Amino acid sequence: MGETTKIGWVRNTDGSKGATINFWIGCTEVSDECDNCYARELSERYGWAEWGAGQPRYKTKGAVKNVRALARKAAARAAKEPGYRTRAFTNSLSDFFDTEIDRAWREEALDEIDAAPFVDLLILTKRPKVAQQVMQERYGNQAPKNIWIGTTAGTQKMWDLRIPILGKTPAAVRFVSVEPMLEGIDPGNAFDPPISDDGFQPVGWVICGGESGTMARTFDVANARALRDQCRWSGVPFFMKQLGARAVDEINGIAGRSLKVDPDVEAIIRRLKNPAGADPTEWPADLRVQQFPEAA
Ligand code: SF4
Repeated sequence: MGETTKIGWVRNTDGSKGATINFWIGCTEVSDECDNCYARELSERYGWAEWGAGQPRYKTKGAVKNVRALARKAAARAAKEPGYRTRAFTNSLSDFFDTEIDRAWREEALDEIDAAPFVDLLILTKRPKVAQQVMQERYGNQAPKNIWIGTTAGTQKMWDLRIPILGKTPAAVRFVSVEPMLEGIDPGNAFDPPISDDGFQPVGWVICGGESGTMARTFDVANARALRDQCRWSGVPFFMKQLGARAVDEINGIAGRSLKVDPDVEAIIRRLKNPAGADPTEWPADLRVQQFPEAA
């Protein structure tokens, strides 16, 4: 559970692949983005943990050891190459701020991360309110330099609900994963908040993607372009992760095998050769934008 990851946005500062660390497995769905939860699917297939409220979460073995191994390697590397940092994504098979875990598990994980100054922990949650409480209780308003907090916002409703909370959560970098992107998003003031918005720190990174898997919902590439432009105008790094399994692009067309006309959007849905639409060489050139924030 500390393997090198194929997730494109988890990269060490030298551009090499980062890691995933899962301190536990299991979760409960909280919003529309969870409908086709990849972690639940994998967990059902391999019998790791049952999903849902009241179901016990499974504490993985070896996560602490893995963090320590990453910490050791990263420190040795940083001693030779000042500025080097390793990046690790947690938890890809659960939500780090799930309310149903034993809180001691999360504290143990944070203890390890506090002792790993050259490892940036990228935590993506759909429970930003819990993230805010946990981070404030533990760190006050002084964000640790190696904890990045992100939240998922695949719809406008979730953007409007979660981003104001994220903006007031202590973290080295605050980021948003607009994946699966289920509709167009108006970021409002999230990138350039007015000075009067006391304590709100702007979003510092946006990741965008369509949904993969057999049940994937349609991803309208025009919505990604609009969000990319908003990021560009505000100087916020934008990372196009994947076009998903059901991409529609009215402007450029997308190469690939035609599936069928989707009556909702009255457009031909196409599947790219890469099943998740994650190969940038298959994308329209203007979408090949994969930027990262500065090291915190
Ligand atoms: S929060 Fe994440 S891990 Fe939990 S059900 Fe939703 S998609 Fe799955």
